[in-house]
Amino acid sequence: MLVALFNDQFVDMVGETSKEEWYLKNKSGLLRCPVCHNKVIPKCGTKKTWHFAHHSFEECDGYHEGETHYHLLGKKGLYKWLTYINEKSILEYYLRDIQQRPDLFLQKQQHAIEFQCATVTPDDLRKRITGYQSQNIDSDWIFGMKRIKQKGPDLYYIQSSDLSAAKKDSDGHLYLNYYCPLKEQFLLLRNIIPLSQKKVVAHGYAFSTKKCCDVQWLSRTFKNSKTHNVNHKVLWKKQKNTWRTTAFKNTSPAVMYMKKVLYFNHHSLTLFPSIAGIPTPDFYHIETSPYLWQTYILFLIEKLPISLFSENVIEKEFQRLLHKRILQTRDFPYMKESWRDAIKNYLSFLVNHQLLDKVSERTYRKLQHVHYPKTLDEALRLDEIFSEKS
Ligand SMILES: [Zn+2]
Repeated sequence: MLVALFNDQFVDMVGETSKEEWYLKNKSGLLRCPVCHNKVIPKCGTKKTWHFAHHSFEECDGYHEGETHYHLLGKKGLYKWLTYINEKSILEYYLRDIQQRPDLFLQKQQHAIEFQCATVTPDDLRKRITGYQSQNIDSDWIFGMKRIKQKGPDLYYIQSSDLSAAKKDSDGHLYLNYYCPLKEQFLLLRNIIPLSQKKVVAHGYAFSTKKCCDVQWLSRTFKNSKTHNVNHKVLWKKQKNTWRTTAFKNTSPAVMYMKKVLYFNHHSLTLFPSIAGIPTPDFYHIETSPYLWQTYILFLIEKLPISLFSENVIEKEFQRLLHKRILQTRDFPYMKESWRDAIKNYLSFLVNHQLLDKVSERTYRKLQHVHYPKTLDEALRLDEIFSEKS
């Protein structure tokens, strides 16, 4: 931690205090943890960012020992960035009511900023976000740059759990922010489209902290260039290709289930309909690859005894498969949408492509049979056409 109490006054490790001064303060025995009021000691070594550590590992609600150098450095760097852009922030501010301690807190705006380097589970993330929301505090997650790798133009590997912290920008696109304390640089990831658990297509914008001149940059959107959008389409098409060519060796519960269902109906998963596997709005609320759950929707519709059907039928069946953990959802605490919207939007897509007719708010009518490609060549050719349409 970077903040302690000395004589009941806050002191921190981001200022000019020298090593000798810290050791003098330490001798007095008056350096305390602001949360549990136990003794803390200043650590002013050469390997790690200077920080305070609890004297003994007693229970302390507010601080987790063993922060890495990278995390301490990042916290300090972000604090300096906020100071540089004239935002008054408080380091490690302890919110006693909810027992949370954001890395940085903008008191005037009631805005918490977390610099996340360690993996946090989606459940923990939701808990922390709802904690802030319960106090009417805005929150933003900035991830350590070590948690992302660029794999090509507009292609990134991220930690799958980090995606849960994504927010939607004003255009409805997902975004996340990364920060490198070593380079003092932000990477603003915009228009994120998840391809698999860890692989995402996104536009990355790198800026030195000196260039990002207000906190709004964390939610800033950028005008899409044409090349970016072309890349999105190309990468998506490539992913669809991968789904087709690797389905035979994939043994995930969803794939095994779909293979079985299709097999008993004389289809193969490799030759799933080209109208499935489409990045329709909100599709990412279902973590299972869209080619699987969209093919399954098409299959369900095909199997219905009558041409009129309600969205509820599909939802109910999905609920069953979610319960059996054949399908998986993703949790996005910052969004109000859910997997139900993923289904709804895909049905709208089918309406737009004349496969269905929308009769009322939640009722549809089948119009056409679903076409299953006969060969891989035909499938790839049709994928090409749908890639342009979606
Ligand atoms: Zn403590």
